Amino acid sequence: MDEILKNLIREKGPIDIAEFMGLALGHPAHGYYMKGDPFGARGDFTTAPEISQMFGEMVAAWIMDVWQQMGSPVFTLLECGPGRGTLMADIMRATKNVPGFYDSAKVHLLEISPALRAMQAAALENYAPEWHVNLETLPDRPMIVVANEFLDALPVRQLIHTADGWKERVVGIANGNFAFDTKELPFNLPVDAAEGAIFEISPVRSQFVTDLVKKLNGAALIIDYGHSESGIGDTLQALKSHKYISPLEEVGNADLTTHVDFHAVKLAAEAAGAEVSGPVEQGAFLKDLGIGQRAEILTLRATPAQKFDIEKALQRLVDPSQMGSLFKVMGLTNGQNLSLPGF
Ligand code: SAH
Repeated sequence: MDEILKNLIREKGPIDIAEFMGLALGHPAHGYYMKGDPFGARGDFTTAPEISQMFGEMVAAWIMDVWQQMGSPVFTLLECGPGRGTLMADIMRATKNVPGFYDSAKVHLLEISPALRAMQAAALENYAPEWHVNLETLPDRPMIVVANEFLDALPVRQLIHTADGWKERVVGIANGNFAFDTKELPFNLPVDAAEGAIFEISPVRSQFVTDLVKKLNGAALIIDYGHSESGIGDTLQALKSHKYISPLEEVGNADLTTHVDFHAVKLAAEAAGAEVSGPVEQGAFLKDLGIGQRAEILTLRATPAQKFDIEKALQRLVDPSQMGSLFKVMGLTNGQNLSLPGF
């Protein structure tokens, strides 16, 4: 992977951060998501559905509420970036006794990784999922969408404030290694900031949100780490075996993400015609949907060791010092008059 990227840079010059991220994650042969399984205790990172079934149960409750408000139609239940398929499996398990739900929910998955598609196929074999690589191939019908830790994987560009004004941050080569560099912007940004300040923009993410809203006849639930207001900050991070490393190391072997600018997501969604709820913090959202009560019920039948695990998982999901505050939840609706729960 390193050589492929270095040859590309030698040929056409330094590449912007979005192109670097896009290749590091999505290169057909060597991209991070195109290879193995990045999740869980032995993987590179752990996500909320992998921590506890309670997360999927709360999302299932949200979906049920929205589906009933829509008049319980046949609908597309779309998950964007389903990882191992755990969240969708938990949603389907939690809704199995809801009359009419299984006949109405058509499971669709947006996933680029062949390795993860295979895991999703195994986890969801009873629900006949259909896969997509983009939103264009989705059928035309009412839709409920879930995207947990999906938007953070979409590439961002970084603008950096230097002594000579704003430049684009790029990846070049110095002494044979990848190195950050800067390149002139085709426009002048008259915004003051400290030297070295970085501002992130994600045309790819905004375009995705625009396309999603245009397709949406129903509601979408977006959950990710990020900030509610746009601001200065370099959030590009690489995770390998649960440790942060330089984004320029282990290219293609480490997860590369940025925090989601939910303000930018909101602006893109509203411009495309959506009604936006939130963002609210994940802890508040899950508590509002009843995760505390659910944990208590699970505890009733639990051994002391299981009780400890349930309590620990609950804390991880809702505590502000863990995922409760950094993770935000945003709801989008279009084409239907819905009052989204949890906001
Ligand atoms: N939602 C899961 C996994 C999050 S990791 C969970 O919470 O556990 C990000 C997921 O998005 C992976 O499944 C990855 O393969 C997928 N993905 C990343 N970029 C994508 C893209 N451009 N198109 C479709 N899927 C993508």
